[in-house]
This record gives sequence, C-alpha cells and structure tokens, in this order.
Amino acid sequence: MAKVVNCPCGDVIKADTDDELVRLVQQHGKDVHDQEVKREDVLAMAQPAD
Ligand SMILES: [Zn+2]
Repeated sequence: MAKVVNCPCGDVIKADTDDELVRLVQQHGKDVHDQEVKREDVLAMAQPAD
C-alpha cells in the first residue's frame, strides 16, 4: 500500500513500499534539513496514500 509523509517544510514524499518511503524521507531529511531520520520515525509519520 502506498504511503505518504507530509514533511513540516511542505514537501510531500510518497512511495509504494515502506523501504522506499524510508529511503526517500531519509534522503530528504539529509539533503534539505541536514537531519538524520530514523526508520521508526518515518513510519510513525507515514499515512496511507489513496
Ligand atoms: Zn522537509
């Protein structure tokens, strides 16, 4: 099931799998916010995309 993370900066990050979502959000966190994001935090922020 696709999931989406709404970053506080306004970006919306969407992926079809948890692994992909975690990878994209971690990359976003690093590139845009210079922050490490934990997998559990990504999944806690994730919401179903429909
Ligand atoms: Zn962001």
